[in-house]
Amino acid sequence: MKNDIFESTGQFKKEYRRMVESEVGKDFEDADDYERFAALCNLVAYRARAIHVKNDNAIVAQRKKRVFYFSLEFLIGPLLENYLLNLGALETVQEALEEMGTSLERLSACEVDPGLGNGGLGRLAACFLDSMAHEGIAGYGNGMRYRYGLFRQVIKDGRQVEETDNWLAKGYPWEVRRPESAVEVTFGGEVVRHEEDGKYWFTLEGGETVKAVPYDIPVVGYGGQTVNKLRIWSAEPAQENFDLDAFNDGQYANASKFRTDVEAISTILYPNDAGEHGRILRLKQEYLFVAAGIGSIMRTFKRENTRADGTVDWDMFPELIAIHTNDTHPAMCGAELLRVLIDEEGLDYDRAWDIVTRTISYTNHTVLPEALEKWPIDVFHRLLPRIYMYIEEIDRRYREDFIAKHGDRMDLLCETAILWDGQVRMANLSIICSHSVNGVAKIHTDILEREVLNGFYQLDPEKFNNKTNGISFRRFLGNANPSYSRLITSAIGDGWLDDASELHKLSAFYKDSVFLDAMTDSKRLNKERLAAYIKKTTGVELDCDSVFDVQVKRFHAYKRQLLNIFKVMDVYNRIVNWGYTPRPTSFIFAGKAAQSYTYAKEVIRLINSVAHVVNNDPRANQIIKVAFVPNFSVSNAELIYPAAEISEQISTAGMEASGTSNMKLMANAAITLGTLDGANVEIAQLAGRDNIEIFGLTVDEVEALKSSNSYFAWDEYNRDRDRLGRVVDELIDGTFAGLSGNFNLIYDGLMHKNDADFVLKDFHSYVDAWEHLGSIYGDRRRWNAMALANTANSGFFSSDRTIREYAEDIWHV
Ligand SMILES: *Cc1c(COP(=O)(O)O)cnc(C)c1O
Repeated sequence: MKNDIFESTGQFKKEYRRMVESEVGKDFEDADDYERFAALCNLVAYRARAIHVKNDNAIVAQRKKRVFYFSLEFLIGPLLENYLLNLGALETVQEALEEMGTSLERLSACEVDPGLGNGGLGRLAACFLDSMAHEGIAGYGNGMRYRYGLFRQVIKDGRQVEETDNWLAKGYPWEVRRPESAVEVTFGGEVVRHEEDGKYWFTLEGGETVKAVPYDIPVVGYGGQTVNKLRIWSAEPAQENFDLDAFNDGQYANASKFRTDVEAISTILYPNDAGEHGRILRLKQEYLFVAAGIGSIMRTFKRENTRADGTVDWDMFPELIAIHTNDTHPAMCGAELLRVLIDEEGLDYDRAWDIVTRTISYTNHTVLPEALEKWPIDVFHRLLPRIYMYIEEIDRRYREDFIAKHGDRMDLLCETAILWDGQVRMANLSIICSHSVNGVAKIHTDILEREVLNGFYQLDPEKFNNKTNGISFRRFLGNANPSYSRLITSAIGDGWLDDASELHKLSAFYKDSVFLDAMTDSKRLNKERLAAYIKKTTGVELDCDSVFDVQVKRFHAYKRQLLNIFKVMDVYNRIVNWGYTPRPTSFIFAGKAAQSYTYAKEVIRLINSVAHVVNNDPRANQIIKVAFVPNFSVSNAELIYPAAEISEQISTAGMEASGTSNMKLMANAAITLGTLDGANVEIAQLAGRDNIEIFGLTVDEVEALKSSNSYFAWDEYNRDRDRLGRVVDELIDGTFAGLSGNFNLIYDGLMHKNDADFVLKDFHSYVDAWEHLGSIYGDRRRWNAMALANTANSGFFSSDRTIREYAEDIWHV
């Protein structure tokens, strides 16, 4: 599709020069790279906003439904190259910049990668924004503008060290501050009851009011027809209460304390995989972005739906607005919408409740019990007294209704009520306020229905549905892998950027030796590009003839990076002691661990310690190498995925809800080595069992072992003292202690806490499966045909498809 926003390189250059002059105040020749970069973003954003205004007018004129996607995280990544691709201007701009004596690559390198998310969940939200714009849906992100993103990870002595991510240090050229659209949000205070003529109502008195100020970032859809926006909120003081006396006394910090206390709300993003700690600031973040988002929706709705007589057409609310809640972080949407409709707009409860449940929908992302959000009632009540009253009322009515309908099933009530045991259960609140609940892969939705949310499923099976996750092929194949994209486009045209199911046409090339050999060349380029980055960031030199075996994702016990490094330790032992010669391989890891998640940080330290030993041992380092890429983020992910040949997706079956790096790697022609978990199950079905390597326990087997208590880690250890037993011993015998000591915590987890993640149980089937892949790699055409079958069948995992399903089944747009 060619739909360039710039008529020609000449036209672009003229406009771009003018933009540099007006924004930077310098001639193009005198501007530095960052200034040139920022001006280019401005030019693109300027064009994008013009499209947005046109879209907005059409939405109002056609009374089109808007979708608001509420998410505490949006991991958007660098935007410039993606927006140029989506606007059809990538080649024009590349060419023009070369003619101007610079390059797009050089200017793009100036772009920050905003760390406004932890990993998969935040990246999913960003892919959804891209796809909503592509599908022509009026879909808006609603999130938080954290002053500091997720920490930057550096490795010292093998350990993860966290550094502040000051992503706004140079400003952010894509955002526009909208102070005129600020919303006031109140915390604390006291609820007061009023009564007059037999009618009563409540008001909230006192408390601390803060100002939520929105910043808008354009979201440019592929094809250039639709531009939506992501609105992120920043907390600021409602009033300047600067203490001049304190300042004049030299107490500078005290003088502006009012400011720092408020701004703390939007200062940092909390890490997601350390369990919830009931931190009050987190609850404040959740309410701030919910209340601000709903306040802003209300303002627009009333402006567009007030009749001549001044009344508002509330019946239209669920017809014109869908609110989607990404996980339980926006769970207060229901209570807040109820509060606004009743307290501020004067609707009666039943009518308001009907609007709430017809508007809101919810996605569950996890089966981990420690990640199911709960808040102590006393904390909640003190911080949000009026919202808490509404939650109490929602819960009271839910119970009343329940007993009337299913009075004999008190077990189900105990499972599904919102308030229980002194706590507010946010997942239950989300489900009760929603008309739709979805999981994110078939097997995940099955597990929700069968186990985690079985109570709700029994009561209302119709509410449940599956929406298998997806990814942006434009970003993760089009932008990230130019050489493979060119090869694909030369074979089947570029229609796959618009409709990823066109990748099926690649099946005509499974036996085409010219195409298959060109795949080797493309992969080689990507491996060299990654190897150069790894050399620069870690000093480790990789052999580009070796297999690139990749596991890049957050560190978590259930994702089992430990199983992967055990494989490396075993292969190393066998090379050194038994003269084993495996397929030469580079084992590449990346990922952050939550700051407080000690176990996961120990696994990072183990990987780096193994790397230190292996990479420096001349008996092994011609055959295998280990690299840990620091500070995993969208930008280095875009270098890693295209270079991968083996995609490690090895979570304990039943634990990974979906995964999305499995999809990105599949699209980039890596072969999955995985368990039957999350979307791996669907990958296996689509690619065919011959084109994926599956190993290990199934969900049913894991459940059987757990419920029968028949798994004993020591049995596995004793059964194979030579290989597995040896690897376990090496955690504590000094073999890998050179960098920073032994690994007693990991050893205890396995041998004294009975290996909750079944690492020892799956060890042999895993290493065997890996060796089987190695045996195929020697026949590169066969390997490439398998890899191509993966790309060809990956189109289902386009987030465009996912979004079309949400639009049709849930949002009704
Ligand atoms: C896709 C992506 C993830 C998700 O990876 P999983 O392996 O599915 O957990 C995490 N972080 C980044 C930067 C990503 O792009």
